[in-house]
Amino acid sequence: SREWHLVSRPVGWPQADDFALVEAEVRRPGEGEVLVRNAFLSVDPYMRGRMSAAKSYTAPFELGKTMQGGAVGEVIASNAEGVAPGDHVLHFGGWREYATVSAKQAVKVDPAAAPLSTYLGVLGMTGLTAYAGLLRTASFKEGDSVFVSGAAGAVGSQVGQIAKLKGASRVIGSAGSDEKVKLLVEEYGFDAAFNYKNGPVAEQLRAAAPDGVDVYFDNVGGDHLEAAIGSLNVNGRIAVCGMISIYNNTEPAPGPKNLARLIQTRGRIEGFLVSDHYDLQQQFVQEVGPWVASGQLKYRETVVEGIENNLEAFFGVLRGDNIGKMIVKL
Ligand code: NDP
Repeated sequence: SREWHLVSRPVGWPQADDFALVEAEVRRPGEGEVLVRNAFLSVDPYMRGRMSAAKSYTAPFELGKTMQGGAVGEVIASNAEGVAPGDHVLHFGGWREYATVSAKQAVKVDPAAAPLSTYLGVLGMTGLTAYAGLLRTASFKEGDSVFVSGAAGAVGSQVGQIAKLKGASRVIGSAGSDEKVKLLVEEYGFDAAFNYKNGPVAEQLRAAAPDGVDVYFDNVGGDHLEAAIGSLNVNGRIAVCGMISIYNNTEPAPGPKNLARLIQTRGRIEGFLVSDHYDLQQQFVQEVGPWVASGQLKYRETVVEGIENNLEAFFGVLRGDNIGKMIVKL
């Protein structure tokens, strides 16, 4: 079985020689464990954080050990009650072809109910992130105008569409290519969208949201955050989900220069982690599942094939190669 190891800690943009694809023995499941043949692996921006030694909300990847990440696959051997060969599970033993994992840390998923890959994306972690961040952290309510960055990505595309489905007065998105911008407006129903590479974000946002924004869902940080504060309405809320524009920085990024605007707007900025909101999982699936099934909520996946391309897929997320969730298919 092949698996990816981190062999040195990247400084700045990660490089291919920080990683190695190695051959490892498949371990038989011990008591309470299952052996899974992975079918789909997740690559996510937060993994960049785990490549650094700095302590964060998840432990750093260990050098010379298999990296971890979300994965779904088929159980091929089980030594655990309640899980049988042929079952499909969502688990955390990604970046490898076969994984031996504790059954307690694996969740059964039904490939007949939804395509397996969606349990990593639109019905999985990134979907719940969009749902919890918008509804709980940003306290979204009907009639709000919503701005979301990284809007063609996994989380962002779902934020904009959930806001629309729940009665937003206006939804504005930003993304890094004209093709993505077109998709947002023509396929996902955003009211306006712009390519942040085409000009200053603050100017483009003012043009796209002449009446300001009540909610900003931040996936990017930097100029985007500053622009959103500049366009924030009274009682505006900013949910800080991610700041992908600074993940590869080697120096601390400058903060927004206009924080004082939070006084006049009584604005609120609040960060959140999806892992604190698993209590919403059932509600999320009940509400969003039918929208996905009926096609009211659209999603794309960018699928890269083969374990040998797992690393390139991860680099692709950092570069913006993906539309929707980036998935590795084995
Ligand atoms: P995406 O599918 O959105 O992929 C990342 C996207 O970021 C790329 O496609 C790229 O699109 C964009 N991007 C890359 N560099 C920049 C840059 N310098 N400026 C602006 N955009 C950039 O990933 P996810 O949906 O998985 O994650 C989105 C965000 O949510 C990330 O910041 C992530 O860290 C965060 N997150 C946070 C969670 C939490 O619990 N708080 C949980 C899950 C995700 P483009 O072409 O538009 O540049």
